[in-house]
Amino acid sequence: TLGLGAWAYDRGDFVPAASPRLPLSTQGLHYGTAVFEGIRAYAAPNGRHLFRVHEHYARMLRACRMLRMTGMPQSVDELVDITVELIRRNAHDDRLDVYVRPLAHKLSLLPGTPLGVSLAGVSDGLSIATYGFPPNRSPRPTRCVISSWRRPARDTLPAQAKIAGGYATSALASDEARSAGFDDAILLDRAGNVAEATTANVFVVANGVLRTPPATGDLLAGITRDTVITLCQEAGMAVLERPLSPMDLRTADEVFLTSTGKGVASVTSLSGKDIADGEVGPVTIRVAELYNTAATTSDGARRRWLTHLAPE
Ligand code: PMP
Repeated sequence: TLGLGAWAYDRGDFVPAASPRLPLSTQGLHYGTAVFEGIRAYAAPNGRHLFRVHEHYARMLRACRMLRMTGMPQSVDELVDITVELIRRNAHDDRLDVYVRPLAHKLSLLPGTPLGVSLAGVSDGLSIATYGFPPNRSPRPTRCVISSWRRPARDTLPAQAKIAGGYATSALASDEARSAGFDDAILLDRAGNVAEATTANVFVVANGVLRTPPATGDLLAGITRDTVITLCQEAGMAVLERPLSPMDLRTADEVFLTSTGKGVASVTSLSGKDIADGEVGPVTIRVAELYNTAATTSDGARRRWLTHLAPE
């Protein structure tokens, strides 16, 4: 239930969200040479806050540099300003969270650039859309399956960049899981260790200790993952970054997922078998509380993570 805002940002202008048209020759469409982000503004009693928006745009700009994109706003602050203005214009219902989807794409060949797969000599564009959606603050039970698709290795596809083409793997894995009646898939790396879910990071809880695969593995080390590690350590919980095997998931006391879209979601079963008693566990509930408090409370120690949006 995502409600697209009436306005979008497209290559320098605010335009009706339904109107942008890209040429059929748009390179990003052909080769997946586009970069996107998923950023969230949380509804709170004192207004909405964008959560860690600067980190999200910094991650996007790093990925854009990798794809040699130069023809768009180049500073994080400019991108934040455009986003704040777009959310203001879209005036989503105050009770809703807002999901922000920037997409930077390789566009058309500049004069003199031969047709073919190249990053240099291609113009680029940036669009941003916003969607209102109901806040989900409690960890949603999620039935997962181990995917038959492996997470591409970091020397196959840059792992820390949200490059559009790489999401074909996530889409295949998600479709396979849903067709078989599951909610999401967990992908392994080439060595058979747990990499990540289709669009989220994986944590296990065993004997009171949290474990998640290291950021140096074949996974996008998400901003929510970092937030959860930071908050749990501050709260005195032990967090280890260690490789996880599928067996570690099956024998865990709890498994949960983290992402901007899901926040903290509980994995209650794996390939049809319950994890522990198949209920959302107490540590997962506690982690979700820590996370949601940080994302919605502007007077906390983590205030620098929040960008307050004035009420419309
Ligand atoms: N892994 C993948 C493949 C993702 O697409 C996402 C969502 N951006 C994540 C992990 C979680 O990242 P974040 O917490 O920054 O949203």
